[in-house]
Amino acid sequence: MNLQQRDELHLWHPYTQHQTAAKPLGIVKGKDALLWGEDGKEYIDAIASWWVNPYGHSNERLAQAAYKQLTQLEHVLFGGFTHKPAVELAEKLISILPKNQQKVFFSDNGSTAVEIAIKMALQYFFNKGEKRFTVIAFEGAFHGDTFGAMAASGISFFTEAFQEHLLKVVRIPLPQKGSKASAEALRKAIAEHQPAAFIFEALVQGASGMQIYSPEDLDELLSIAQTNGVITIADEVMTGFGRTGRTFACDYLNHKPDIMCLSKALTGGTIPLAVTTATQRIFDGFYSNDVNKALFHGHTFTANPTGCAIALEAIRILESDEMQQNLKRIAKRHQAFVARISQYTSVANARTLGVILAFDLKTTQNTDYYGSFRDRLYNFFISKGVILRPVGNIIYILPPYIITDEQLDRVYEVLEEAIQLFSNQ
Ligand SMILES: *Cc1c(COP(=O)(O)O)cnc(C)c1O
Repeated sequence: MNLQQRDELHLWHPYTQHQTAAKPLGIVKGKDALLWGEDGKEYIDAIASWWVNPYGHSNERLAQAAYKQLTQLEHVLFGGFTHKPAVELAEKLISILPKNQQKVFFSDNGSTAVEIAIKMALQYFFNKGEKRFTVIAFEGAFHGDTFGAMAASGISFFTEAFQEHLLKVVRIPLPQKGSKASAEALRKAIAEHQPAAFIFEALVQGASGMQIYSPEDLDELLSIAQTNGVITIADEVMTGFGRTGRTFACDYLNHKPDIMCLSKALTGGTIPLAVTTATQRIFDGFYSNDVNKALFHGHTFTANPTGCAIALEAIRILESDEMQQNLKRIAKRHQAFVARISQYTSVANARTLGVILAFDLKTTQNTDYYGSFRDRLYNFFISKGVILRPVGNIIYILPPYIITDEQLDRVYEVLEEAIQLFSNQ
């Protein structure tokens, strides 16, 4: 039996309706922007394996960092103990994050990073004896699949079954150019609900199809929230570490968030690790001679030394001239491709920021998130040796930064073929 057949016996995959979904591809090898299937076929990973992998698959430097740490100190509990990889990674992160970030709290994935951010905000007010229980979030947001993160998320079918059990969230629209509706909705929500926090995906809503909005608009929302004592939480799980062309999307802003969530590219797409960072003011809200005011949250693998050591090396790679040139190179080529496909009448809203590129394909077909049109697009791309995951009729690419010009050209070529083939269907 091949991997596909053995998989079917015991595996349960994420976001997968097993009765109707195509069988998963067995992947046996990865190098740089390429993956190889068990059938020997080569694929370009144009979505960086769900947005985690910026520096390429099977990266030697990250593997060396892992090996060195695994043979020095693979893991030690972080309650009552500390270690060099965690200290050095925290120092490094604080040196590259917006200046107001001071404290680093470790966990294992994007959802828990968000979960912790929300708990920090809620308990901050609890500790002060202030009655602030509500969270404000954007329509169409995605913050993860654990309960707090799910509550903040706004893609309805992801969370429908759990509506009765979620914390109280008030939703505001994503800012649109020239409209003040989002700012007005935020003011109204603050006046009516005395919220604890405002959580947002910074500049790009990933899971709802790479919806991009402007730094000016986000700055205005941050200003309103902060003026009213609302804790601002930037979910940079997807946008962090160069995706938007700057190290963090918040680097485009004048107002800096109180709390930030990072994961995905943190370890260069190798192993799970996440951080929630906070300002001194947030940390001080827990600092007390009363043990009950501590943040009672932790995970067994909190600040895993191996993950920290890899993350540190990953940030060094990001900071290298080579990687910074890659970011500029891809951004420039994306801009040219956006201009090119904008001329197709069947392409709407072609957009790009940093290495992220997306467009809507006009169609009369069912545009459900996981609908049949999406499946046909997905299968077309796979048949062409390019891994992409369209969202309904939205097609996006988010390649690893080390993708070569030739590989990127091939992805563009396949996208243009899809535009012509699936137009107005
Ligand atoms: C992926 C993602 C998450 C969830 O991260 P997981 O590691 O999958 O739990 C949260 N927020 C954003 C913006 C994401 O893109």
